[in-house]
Amino acid sequence: MEVPETITCVECGGVARRLTLPPEEEGFLPGDVVAYICPECGQRFDVVVEDEADRDG
Ligand SMILES: [Zn+2]
Repeated sequence: MEVPETITCVECGGVARRLTLPPEEEGFLPGDVVAYICPECGQRFDVVVEDEADRDG
C-alpha cells in the first residue's frame, strides 16, 4: 500500500513531508499511523492509512 510522501498542511497550506519510512517488507498496511511534519509552521500530522480497496461485491 502506498501513501503520499507529502500532504498539504492544513495550518498554513505548505507542503508537509512524511516522516515515517515504509516498512521494507510489506509497506504500509491499513491502520498504520504515518506522521507528517510541515517545515513551514512546524505542525505535525498523524494520518491513519486506510484500506483503499472498496470491496463491494
Ligand atoms: Zn504548515
